[in-house]
Amino acid sequence: MYMHRTLYGKITLILLMLFFAIAALNTVWTLFITRSYIDEANQELNRNLARYLVTSEFSGPEAVIDNASLKKSFEMLMSINPNIELYLLDTEGKVVAYSAPPGKRIKEQVPIEPVRTYISGRKGLPIRNKDPRNPGSLKVFSAAPIPLDGPAVGYLYIILSGEEHDSVMDLLQTSYIARLSIWVWASALLFLFVTGLVLFNHLTRRHRQLTEAVESFRRSDFRIPVTLPETSGGKASDEIDMLGEVFSDMSRRIIDQISDLENSDVQRRELISNISHDLRMPLAAIQGHLETILLKGSSLGDGEKTERIEMALKQAERLGRLVSELLELSRLESPGLDVKAEPFSLAELVQDIVQDFKPAAAEKGIELTILQEKIPAVSGDIGLVERALQNLLDNSIGYTTEGGSITVGMESSGPDVLVKVTDDGIGISPEDLPHIFERFYRGRGESGRVGSGLGLAIARRIIQLHGSDIEVTSTPGEGATFTFTLPVSS
Ligand code: ADP
Repeated sequence: MYMHRTLYGKITLILLMLFFAIAALNTVWTLFITRSYIDEANQELNRNLARYLVTSEFSGPEAVIDNASLKKSFEMLMSINPNIELYLLDTEGKVVAYSAPPGKRIKEQVPIEPVRTYISGRKGLPIRNKDPRNPGSLKVFSAAPIPLDGPAVGYLYIILSGEEHDSVMDLLQTSYIARLSIWVWASALLFLFVTGLVLFNHLTRRHRQLTEAVESFRRSDFRIPVTLPETSGGKASDEIDMLGEVFSDMSRRIIDQISDLENSDVQRRELISNISHDLRMPLAAIQGHLETILLKGSSLGDGEKTERIEMALKQAERLGRLVSELLELSRLESPGLDVKAEPFSLAELVQDIVQDFKPAAAEKGIELTILQEKIPAVSGDIGLVERALQNLLDNSIGYTTEGGSITVGMESSGPDVLVKVTDDGIGISPEDLPHIFERFYRGRGESGRVGSGLGLAIARRIIQLHGSDIEVTSTPGEGATFTFTLPVSS
């Protein structure tokens, strides 16, 4: 990975540029301050130099500017302190006499305003002015009027720093303070830079780990969830931890959804093949009977003809039932369906249904009873609940052998009414038990009953629409019990 593409790389680059900028600014500032400080100290120390020279060289009320005698005293002074340059200015700032070595070109005029300001003492030091020998640079100076009191006829103007400190390197070489200050700053910045790098490395490491985890999730084709070693188990302590947890949750959700989608695709294909199979069987039977009648025609006896027509009719009825059950289930499973819940008496409903099933039960010699304590009215869609109960009873009669018994029990259970349909029929094998509510699933038990495999799926969906679920317990050979609850109407 290229350095500048990583977050850490970017932070390092920004930090580096920032520190270089600070270092550069600081160097310029330190040099400026040091130079000002040196100049100020120099000017302050020599504040009285010009005054002193004027007192000693231009004493007396008749202070006349005499070039020849001046030159002599200038040369004498310069030999004492070669760092100073002396100039005699008239009141306009014109250089009248000076102490420079011969041959060196000098500027004839210096601005007089800074000289006057300096003498008046109105402004803080350093005050700089033109150096006649180096007209391009400004220097600190000492100055005094001639004579010291009374109207000035000229000024003694002393450039203090000579030609030193003209460059930054000069200043750095000469000023210990400047060097020290720059070193201290450079070390502080270096320390900050290194600390910053270590800190950012620590912070971005977790960010990097997170990115790698998400990347490996993508590489796994969204199949292996994001796992974060540092946060797993612990509580999120900051935004990166939180981001990690959210990613981890999200990855699990994505995996679940992908597998749901895949499952539902498999289910859809299974469903289509089941439906086709279930529709084809009765259709083939009908076709077979009709073809026999057509081909054999008059050679078929009346009895057999009627029998075949009756069998074809039975298959047609089965087909019709299958199609209407399919339609019913698909309607119940449509997402926009809303249950019209209203209060009704479950006891009365069960009474009516049991009444309807009595003849079918009696045909098989099955005893059908209601076991009921006093129960309150329940809330639900009476038509749908009736359908669910019919499917359960239809199964119980279908899977109970001759002479068996079936009970429908109802009892209060907290905020609900518990409904129990129990039979002592053939029961359900443990292998079938987890699947019997699936669409088209038919148990392997020998019952002789030809069902569609949709009855329990419909019943369960109805009860689920009422916010509950159907449960089943069974011992093979001893019977089965189906239980569900309905809410008491408030
Ligand atoms: P079917 O049309 O086959 O009855 P259902 O969805 O109603 O379809 O039931 C699914 C399967 O559950 C049945 O094939 C049967 O094996 C089993 N089953 C349902 N009710 C009972 C019961 N009361 N006793 C034993 N087995 C049952």
